Amino acid sequence: MSVDPLTETADTVCRHDSPGSLFIVSGPSGAGKGTLVRALLDRVPGIWLSVSATTRPPRPGEIDGVHYVFLSGEEFDRLVAEDGLLEWAEVHGNRYGTLRMPVEERLERGEIVVLEIDPQGAAQVKEKMPESVLVFIEPPSFDELRDRLVKRGSETPEQIERRLRTAREELAIAGTYDYVVINDDVEQATDELAAIVTTCARQRHSGQKD
Ligand code: 5GP
Repeated sequence: MSVDPLTETADTVCRHDSPGSLFIVSGPSGAGKGTLVRALLDRVPGIWLSVSATTRPPRPGEIDGVHYVFLSGEEFDRLVAEDGLLEWAEVHGNRYGTLRMPVEERLERGEIVVLEIDPQGAAQVKEKMPESVLVFIEPPSFDELRDRLVKRGSETPEQIERRLRTAREELAIAGTYDYVVINDDVEQATDELAAIVTTCARQRHSGQKD
């Protein structure tokens, strides 16, 4: 679904049963979720992006608490046992999870919250919080996805093949999402993502006042 039918579906997708608005941006690795989410934050003021916990070691330039909260396997186990994660999943051999408390606190305050997570985690959050809005970021083609992963240069050839196998499965579920944004042109895809977020957030806000 592109942004055009947004106004038709906004009533059904953007439900009003939570004070804040939770958006889950998901899709295959290499589809450009990170780039689009950063562009969204620049475009729409007042959005809070959740910082995930992970057992993956930091890449050069990544800062603990900014890009991720980097944890040991034992620390991650403890968080899971304490029910400190809203969702978690193993992605490409490492564990990633959304810290529950900061997300819940911001939603209670009525803020717009964005999670940038993999499709396994997205499904868990949608099940627990059906009022959340699921947005699937789709690469223009499978070949383009392979090119982007190769150009990014942060994975070995084996890791790229593994990510592409996972991507094939993930692309099959795009139709189950509330919205699909095709990331062919970053500007246009950002426009669509921003329109989804602002329209839903506005709807929810006006719904609360009714
Ligand atoms: P990367 O290691 O490249 O930063 O991220 C790998 C994948 O993990 C990406 O698809 C990213 O969206 C996903 N991811 C990041 N944080 C979370 C999280 O908190 N939960 C889940 N389920 N996936 C995450």
